[in-house]
Amino acid sequence: MTRTPLIAIGSYRDWDIAAMRDSHDLHLLGAPEAIAGLAPDLRAAVRALAYQGHRPLGAATFEQLPALGLVANYGVGYDAIDVAAATRRGIRVTNTPDVLNDDVADLAVGMMLAFSRNMMANADWLAKGRWAERGDPPLARKMSGARAGIMGLGRIGREIANRLAAFKMQIHYHSRAAKDTPEGWVWHRDPAGLAAHCDYLIVALVGGKATEGYVSARVIDALGPDAVIVNISRGSTIDEGAMLEALEAGRIRGAALDVFRSEPALDPRFLKLGNVFLQPHQGSATIETRKGMGQLQRDNIAAFLGGRPLLTPVN
Ligand code: NAP
Repeated sequence: MTRTPLIAIGSYRDWDIAAMRDSHDLHLLGAPEAIAGLAPDLRAAVRALAYQGHRPLGAATFEQLPALGLVANYGVGYDAIDVAAATRRGIRVTNTPDVLNDDVADLAVGMMLAFSRNMMANADWLAKGRWAERGDPPLARKMSGARAGIMGLGRIGREIANRLAAFKMQIHYHSRAAKDTPEGWVWHRDPAGLAAHCDYLIVALVGGKATEGYVSARVIDALGPDAVIVNISRGSTIDEGAMLEALEAGRIRGAALDVFRSEPALDPRFLKLGNVFLQPHQGSATIETRKGMGQLQRDNIAAFLGGRPLLTPVN
């Protein structure tokens, strides 16, 4: 029996590759540009593409795959995929929401604690023998009980808010409309209004053109000198230049960031700062969650090829 061809783009783990090979004639590629090198009869037959990565994927790729009907993204954020171009060609797009909420929220809280309690510097203090030589390191700052401002109370934003509520933090949030929330959570219509009412501004927006620079210079200016920016969304959601200036000038207390505009080659100014805690885009990066994301991606592909409703469609 001939198996359905499947193109998978990205750097997949062995367990994902094995599972895709089990049910497909798999063509594993490093980048969209490699599609041009596939045999014409294969390109003409491919109906589904598994995508992983942050490089743009759009019309130029779709044109090379005339029978393509599905792009199954590995990740909830699909800002790298030109969904409008896909829709114009009748191509469905799916993503992997919810299965990663816990991990991204855990990392956000972990970064906040690590930053506030000087965990990196304190570990370094101990490792370098300063504890014995000089005594205790400088005091840190308290996180519990402070004001959290969630920019974007979506799936991940809400998980972050739930966790921070357990840290006795006052929950403020901005979304385009007020949401049904536990009593006491405060909605702010204006993003700058949220910034003016929080000690930690946690950005959990979608990426893409619609939210480009949403945390603008105006929003950053509204933060107080004691405020910390936390970003687990996309680098594009913050005016990075304005944030760097505020960090360099000490106009805000600091930032805990998992995502950057030009990642992985981030702006070198970040590495000179002493008031940041930086992570290399690790929000969903656990074995358990990545396995769940791969499974959901494959379930969407199986549903599409089997003529069943998609599990998590985007368009
Ligand atoms: P979601 O449930 O769709 O929530 C996204 C939030 O973005 C919502 O609050 C929504 O606002 C807001 N939003 C969407 N379009 C907007 C617009 N045009 N203007 C203003 N706000 C807008 O998404 P999610 O599942 O929580 O995921 C959020 C993002 O996290 C993903 O898109 C991805 O980029 C990022 N992420 C990062 C990592 C990581 O490794 N760091 C891992 C996973 C996801 P409303 O509340 O007004 O609807």
